[in-house]
Amino acid sequence: MAIGDGPEVVIGPGARLGEGPVWDARSGRLAWIDVLSSQILLTDVATPQTEVIEVPSHVGAVAPRAAGGFVAALQDGFWVVGDGPTRRITSVAEAGPSLRFNDGKCDPAGRFWAGTMAYDEKPGAGALYRLDPDGRASLVLDGVTISNGLAWSLDGLTMYYIDTPTRRIDAFSFSPGTGEISDRRPVISIPAELGLPDGLTIDAEGGLWVALWGGAAVHRYVDGRLDAVVTLPVSQPTSCAFGGENLDELYVTSAREGLSLEQREAQPLAGAVFRVRPGVRGLPAAVFAGA
Ligand code: CA
Repeated sequence: MAIGDGPEVVIGPGARLGEGPVWDARSGRLAWIDVLSSQILLTDVATPQTEVIEVPSHVGAVAPRAAGGFVAALQDGFWVVGDGPTRRITSVAEAGPSLRFNDGKCDPAGRFWAGTMAYDEKPGAGALYRLDPDGRASLVLDGVTISNGLAWSLDGLTMYYIDTPTRRIDAFSFSPGTGEISDRRPVISIPAELGLPDGLTIDAEGGLWVALWGGAAVHRYVDGRLDAVVTLPVSQPTSCAFGGENLDELYVTSAREGLSLEQREAQPLAGAVFRVRPGVRGLPAAVFAGA
C-alpha cells in the first residue's frame, strides 16, 4: 500500500548528510545529526527551532543517555555530549583515521551499538561495536563495509542489521542478558533498482521501516514482505525514526552529499527532514544506561 498523506518538510534542507534521527522523549525533541558537519541537532519539531551541538569530529550516531545528555559515536570512539562537559568514554583504536563511525542505536537493555565504515568505502574495512553501560567497548562483528541500520524485535530476541552493500536486512539471534549475537541470516533482500538499505527502525507491530539511499523511498516490511512504501521528493533518504508525543509520526532524514549540481537543482529538498503519518506507532527509543 502507499501511505496516504505525502511527506511534509519539517526541517528545511540544510544538512549535508542528515542522519540518525531518534526521538528524545525527555524534551519532546527530535535528535538527529549532520555527519559531515560534526553536529548533533535537537529540533523542536513544532516550531521548528534547532539547538546545535558542535562535536569534535564527524558524528555517526547519537542516542539519549539515562543519566542526561546523549551518548554519541564520533569518528574515533564513544563520547558523552550535552548536559555537562563533552568527554570521551572510550576510544576505539581499530577505527583508525581512514574510518569513521556510522549508524548506531541502543538495544532495549541500554547498550549502545554503532559500526564503522571507511571513508573510501573499502570493502570489509568496517566493524560493529557494542558499548556496554560499564564503558567497555567490544568489537562484535568485523568485515563490515558500511555499517548501518539496527533494530531489535518486539520480543528482544532478534537483532536486525544492515551492512549496506549486501543489499539486505539480516537478523541475528540476540541474547538480552549478555548482548551477544549469533546465527546471522538474511531476512530481506532489496533489489538494486530500489536503492540501498540504510537506516532502520521497527514499529509497534513489528514492521521494519528502512530508508533506501538512492531509492527516494522508505519501505515497510512485515514478515519479510514489502507492505508499504513512502515516496520522498529526494533520492537520498538516510534513516527514519518514530516520534511525536504519541510516536505516530515517522521522521525521515536525507542527504545532499554526493549529488551532482543537476541533481541538487532537481532535488531542492535534499538534506531536509520529512514527516509522514504512517498509521502505525513506533516504540520509545531505548536509552543508554551507562555513566
Ligand atoms: Ca546511515
